[in-house]
Amino acid sequence: MEHVILITGGSRGIGAATARLAAERGYSVCVNYKANQAAAEEVANQCRHFQVNAIAVQADVAMEDDVVRLFRTVDHELGKLTALVNNAGILERQARVEDMDAGRIARVLAVNVTGSMLCCREAVRRMSTRHGGSGGAIVNVSSVAARVGSPNEYVDYAAAKGAVDTLTLGLSKEVADEGIRVNAVRPGFIDTDIHASGGEPGRVERLKPLIPMKRGGRPEEVAAAILWLLSDEASYATGAFIDLAGGR
Ligand code: NAP
Repeated sequence: MEHVILITGGSRGIGAATARLAAERGYSVCVNYKANQAAAEEVANQCRHFQVNAIAVQADVAMEDDVVRLFRTVDHELGKLTALVNNAGILERQARVEDMDAGRIARVLAVNVTGSMLCCREAVRRMSTRHGGSGGAIVNVSSVAARVGSPNEYVDYAAAKGAVDTLTLGLSKEVADEGIRVNAVRPGFIDTDIHASGGEPGRVERLKPLIPMKRGGRPEEVAAAILWLLSDEASYATGAFIDLAGGR
């Protein structure tokens, strides 16, 4: 069977590493991005080096119309979707809960939770045997934040990732006998740009003494777990979580 994967937020960091590894494994790849077209096109180009189809598609996963258009583009340009990675995620500047306003909380929930749920919806409509599909696999990119809560940094983001964990559990059971597996990875401190959006580009370096392995993780180390969960080797894994956090 032809494998077609959609990776939200695939223009950099963990999403880009996942796109490249998926291409290496023979998937046709859709690299979704929100703003950075040049970076997304470059990742799609890197994927094509592995002789697979690859496209870069702009869509804000928090916007329902964008999500619908994104999945339709995959249908038309790559064919039947077999794998979804809900990777797009944001956080905002480090702050305490007492200093967060409703606008910030809504933005964080919209991308991390609503975006993941909308993409799951579109994937299930295509993959479920209930709708005439041939099955597939979904991996949600959660975070260790879901179980530690990220006090003094971003409890809003941690709570959003807690919701992603619950989405993973509930949906995995809902579609388990419809040919779809739904799992999650929970990265710890991984070297990407996301820490700069929290106002601290050097966050991993500062916090690495707290990690049992005493180092941050690489996006490729998360991508490897995502690709395993999507693969037939993980055929009996659903509702499962892999923590990639150096022992934290
Ligand atoms: P990153 O380097 O900041 O990259 C974020 C990606 O998401 C970019 O491709 C960005 O696109 C895209 N994006 C942002 N908002 C979007 C939206 N509304 N719609 C579509 N795409 C959007 O992030 P990362 O560190 O690789 O994180 C990837 C995932 O891992 C996130 O879910 C994050 O919460 C999770 N995670 C990361 C860490 C870590 O330490 N890095 C730890 C735990 C969990 P543009 O380039 O166009 O803006």
